[in-house]
Amino acid sequence: MFWAGRDTLQEIASLGVRCGQLGIPGDLELNASLVREWKAALDQIQFSIVTVFAAYTGEDYTDIPTVQRTVGFIPNETRQQREQRTYEVSDFAAAIGVGSIATHIGFIPENQSHPDYIAVSGMVRRIADHAAGHGQTFALETGQEPAHVLRHFLNDVARPNVGINFDPANMILYGTGDPIEVLSLLGPLVLSVHAKDGDWPPPDSPQALGIERPLGQGSVGIPRFVEKLKEVNFRGPLNIEREAENQQERIADIRNAVPYLKKLVTSL
Ligand code: MG
Repeated sequence: MFWAGRDTLQEIASLGVRCGQLGIPGDLELNASLVREWKAALDQIQFSIVTVFAAYTGEDYTDIPTVQRTVGFIPNETRQQREQRTYEVSDFAAAIGVGSIATHIGFIPENQSHPDYIAVSGMVRRIADHAAGHGQTFALETGQEPAHVLRHFLNDVARPNVGINFDPANMILYGTGDPIEVLSLLGPLVLSVHAKDGDWPPPDSPQALGIERPLGQGSVGIPRFVEKLKEVNFRGPLNIEREAENQQERIADIRNAVPYLKKLVTSL
């Protein structure tokens, strides 16, 4: 997964990948010239974007309470604005010919009668219907709630074009559960995946997040993950995600991850 304004398509394509997900920062103006720019770049470099990912202004991933307060559709005060922004991201994705959008919706409460649960499920339905108008799917990123909560939520949302962007590292970083195990439960709902790695949060600080690692160096067990994806019949691309702040380190880690993953896939 690469970010508009941070990565260039040329640089990403030079890493040996043919497709990926495009992240849209919350403050990026989505206008006609950006659409022209991306269409031209995609035409020139034979590359396909499988998902356009929406992030929102004001999101902060410092620790778990901050994520709860700032990320996705849960914060009430930004809900309306983020709903509008997601429609714009869906329109932008459609304009550049992409058939899927995705986002982190934030921590879904376990209690189905919680006002946030009700409001956010309505919001996901409206966005799903907007995306369906463009023939798009809408994927919710995993990690911030246990698998059974996400499954119930998707069941309540009840829209055929809504599913999961499965990120195995997030489940570890947030201490949510073993990602390989829950794939048995969530497998049929997975629309897209992130190939990302990380370590569990320290046991003595329940509010801390774990640490993201280069692919294959964390606690996910990437060989098992790839094998499990095959077992649950996932046939889509493996989108490498690396969030290291240092851009050089990030690109170097992605570069190393490409042959690592290719080898795992071909050995299955
Ligand atoms: Mg991710």
